[in-house]
Amino acid sequence: MKPEEIERMRDEALDAFAAAGDLDALQAAKVAHTGGTSPLALANREIGALPPQAKAEAGKRIGQARGAVSKALAGRQAELEAERDARVLVEEAVDVTLPHDRVPAGARHPLTTMMERVADVFVSMGYEIAEGPEVEAEWFNFDALNFVPDHPARQTQDTFFVQGTREDGKPTVDDESGIVLRTHTSPVQARALLDRELPVYIVCPGRVYRTDELDATHTPVFHQIELLAIDEGLTMSDLKGTLDHMVKALFGADMKTRLRPNYFPFTEPSAEMDMLCYVCRGESVGNPDKPCRTCSSEGWIELGGCGMVNPRVLVACGVDPEKYSGFAFGFGIERMLMFRHNVEDMRDMVEGDVRFTRPFGMEI
Ligand SMILES: [Zn+2]
Repeated sequence: MKPEEIERMRDEALDAFAAAGDLDALQAAKVAHTGGTSPLALANREIGALPPQAKAEAGKRIGQARGAVSKALAGRQAELEAERDARVLVEEAVDVTLPHDRVPAGARHPLTTMMERVADVFVSMGYEIAEGPEVEAEWFNFDALNFVPDHPARQTQDTFFVQGTREDGKPTVDDESGIVLRTHTSPVQARALLDRELPVYIVCPGRVYRTDELDATHTPVFHQIELLAIDEGLTMSDLKGTLDHMVKALFGADMKTRLRPNYFPFTEPSAEMDMLCYVCRGESVGNPDKPCRTCSSEGWIELGGCGMVNPRVLVACGVDPEKYSGFAFGFGIERMLMFRHNVEDMRDMVEGDVRFTRPFGMEI
């Protein structure tokens, strides 16, 4: 084991490290020149077979050579790592001044948030949310609610009938099938009374259908929210108090409602409910200097229909009208959104244009 041999092994290792262009090449050189089968390691293993004097000398020489090799390795390693880090900083830099191309986050439709806000008012009073099918049996949609068989609302000019199959396998036509797209959320009342234990306090938000053409004030698909309370001893004053609480919760503490007599098959007595105009608070009435567009200076806004549940409906749903009474009311969400936010064209609500929905904010 000549000294020149040891020096050659050392120099070869140093040259290989210097020549390594990246960390992978350095790793290969490291294995070749410092690993268990590298020339210096093999030489080190041969020391044991040398005579004592030569052993000490060779040990010293090989030890120095290995020390120089590992120092060079560590130095080159540090250099290459620094180069890599500098390159990564440049290559992976993010230019925060570039224009972004993110898809804007979506938000729920104002009709949905409006409907949920109304439902929340009643949930906080202990009412439960109830839902029913949109494709509904004619019996639930009309008969159970005391619509007489020849009531005009049952005609095909108002109601979408769903085609069914007759006993002979042929499709039904028009109003033969007994299945309709529900024209109001009221059938959920009948279903709830048949399904639930009394007393019943429910609120039913949902989509309903009528054969109207889509125009500025009509849409064939719209939303209603309906309320039903059946208990012992409920009276018209409970209905009035509930309505007042609702408009106070939605429009402010100084709001109030009024009832005007009306007729609906499923309530008796029935009333049209109005709420104080939330814009002028009634101050535009008889005051031409301060006209109000929202209520046409009438001071009140028509909200929807209500009344005490007709005893015939209670009987149809298996409830004893001698013991129980209750009230119901319902109104259209589109209409409420229109006057609450001065929306003038109902088509804006169904066209899905974000320019309409964006001003309502990102409420989710
Ligand atoms: Zn007004």
